Amino acid sequence: NFRCRSAFKLLEIDDKFRVLQPGYSVVDCGAAPGAWSQVAVQRVNSAGTDSELPCGTVVGIDLLHIPPLDGAHFLSNHDVADPATHAKVLELLPSGQAHIILSDMAPNASGFRDMDHEKLITLCLTLIDLAGKILQPGGSLVCKYWDGILTQKLQQKLSSVFGSVRTLKPNASRKDSAEKYFLARMYRKPIKS
Ligand code: SAM
Repeated sequence: NFRCRSAFKLLEIDDKFRVLQPGYSVVDCGAAPGAWSQVAVQRVNSAGTDSELPCGTVVGIDLLHIPPLDGAHFLSNHDVADPATHAKVLELLPSGQAHIILSDMAPNASGFRDMDHEKLITLCLTLIDLAGKILQPGGSLVCKYWDGILTQKLQQKLSSVFGSVRTLKPNASRKDSAEKYFLARMYRKPIKS
């Protein structure tokens, strides 16, 4: 039983692209109430359910409280955009590195489509800073955004550090919503200037 129907979107993405492998370290941004983390725990075997497979790590972050989940470490009441949060995530990851960053984050919607779009894109852009600190070379990012005028800017920024970026609209996502996902793969760490 999943905590939220959003689980089906991640299941669909993972069934198609196999981004979550046993033994992987996952950072789940905007994790409350925890359905994506439930999927991640199963797929990376972070609760050690299958003793034959390597055991992964799941770290979830949210501004809200995230009810405890076996196999996951949660940073409740933490802002993904705050560098202090990045430091804590780093400590929770084995060798300080993640294979994949997931983000289903969404700001509280004001109802003004352009404004909500801009807020969410700004939040997504902070994930690129987070990636710079924790994502291992070759790693992936799945992030939700609301489509609009700044979509291209986000796509360009992602393309500057990921070898491949594609747009996804899972069947489990309502057709009439502006919600889409980027799947960015083959991370290359930018050279520090
Ligand atoms: N993927 C989750 C699941 O399956 O249970 C649902 C996520 S919900 C659609 C979006 C979440 O993003 C909310 O819980 C919200 O509090 C969180 N969020 C929004 N802005 C955030 C931020 N700056 N830092 C951390 N979490 C944030």
